[in-house]
Amino acid sequence: MKLYSTNLQAEEVNFETALITGLAPDKGLFMPKTLPHFSEEELTALKDEPYPEIAFQLLKKILEGEIDEESLKAITYDAYDYEVPLEEVNENTYIMRLDRGPTASFKDFAARMMARLMQFYLKKEDKELTILTATSGDTGSAVAHAFYGLDNIRVIVLFPETEVSDRQRKQMTTLDHNISALAIDGKFDDCQAMVKQAFADADLKHLNLSSANSINIGRLIPQTLYYFYSYLKLRDFPEEIVFSIPSGNFGNMMGCVLAKNMGVPIKKIVASVNENDEVPTFLTSGEYEKIVPSKNCISNAMNVGHPSNLARLIAIYGGVMDEQGNISKLPDMDKLNGDIFSTSVTDAETKALVKEFYEKNNIFIEPHGAVGIKGLMDYRAITDDNTLAVTLETAHPAKFPAEVVDAIGVEPELPQSLREIEGKEEYMEYLDTDYEKFKSYLKERLE
Ligand SMILES: *Cc1c(COP(=O)(O)O)cnc(C)c1O
Repeated sequence: MKLYSTNLQAEEVNFETALITGLAPDKGLFMPKTLPHFSEEELTALKDEPYPEIAFQLLKKILEGEIDEESLKAITYDAYDYEVPLEEVNENTYIMRLDRGPTASFKDFAARMMARLMQFYLKKEDKELTILTATSGDTGSAVAHAFYGLDNIRVIVLFPETEVSDRQRKQMTTLDHNISALAIDGKFDDCQAMVKQAFADADLKHLNLSSANSINIGRLIPQTLYYFYSYLKLRDFPEEIVFSIPSGNFGNMMGCVLAKNMGVPIKKIVASVNENDEVPTFLTSGEYEKIVPSKNCISNAMNVGHPSNLARLIAIYGGVMDEQGNISKLPDMDKLNGDIFSTSVTDAETKALVKEFYEKNNIFIEPHGAVGIKGLMDYRAITDDNTLAVTLETAHPAKFPAEVVDAIGVEPELPQSLREIEGKEEYMEYLDTDYEKFKSYLKERLE
């Protein structure tokens, strides 16, 4: 696999380099230059396999020459040891629940695979790495869990002490071993700023610091797999399918775009956003304007005013967008609008949908999933297209109890993974918002 940078100024690299470096030297995002195509025969042969086997067979071809089959198989089976339910709403609508991983968020799919691939390459080169990550809640716990117990990698998570929920904090602080949790007496932006400063600090170069953020190609590729999976379980080639994806940074949705490019017959990708509507506006007008600051909505993992994966979407449709969001070459807008329908859903609509879904179908969804369902309903109302659709539930309803209880008046049951942490001991350290203190902490721990 050869990867290019969306800024087109960096040299092409192989998968290992893209995975370990994260961002291209010209600040662009790595994108695969070519993707394999899966034929009808290849796909049909996988139809009856369980999730980890389908994932392994797909990755074997996508990462051909980058990793040996035996290691890849072990990694994939280890990463995907949980269920991926497809829940029927009615005969042409299914919910794919991506919330059964250890942190009950779809981010487990990407983070667990990326962590294990990183470990594979580090062991091969006999290297060690420290992942620094700042989080407002969800990403940090998914990253911490993904790397938990792996050799050669240590993780330091910085979170704003008073801005994460008890449950989010416990997901990071009850792990210990190779995971350190640092409670910062500031805001998410302060955590982020300290992490960025550490990456740029020449004094810390020797500590081999790395990030595991959402723009890493190692997170994108695993996010293509569940589109294949749900298609295979629900459809027979070459019947078409529609996906509706609640989107923030558009990494999940990029996974769907890549799956379409690799041969899944996807008729339409519905990209549903909350009130941060810069992408639907861009698709209809061709004008891109970031939303600064982003709007606070109840689907809070999607409060993004400038999606980090947008440059990738634009690249794959022939355009160029730099890291600031400036578009120097417009993508093929007709093709983009032909493949993708994007719509914005308000908080009021989101809450109403959570309630309606529970009352009408006896199905629990949380605010992110609700945005996806409402987007699909908008799409169907406008187009009259009733093709079988899968809409993604990206987190477990129990992770957002306040909003859900508020909407329906019933408390969702905790999944096993969240129940387990309730009584566990917490390990964390407290630090001021002070870069020099953070730097001393890093030197003390890692030198
Ligand atoms: C991160 C996240 C999203 C948004 O996914 P993107 O890939 O950033 O578009 C949606 N729902 C939940 C629960 C998330 O944690």
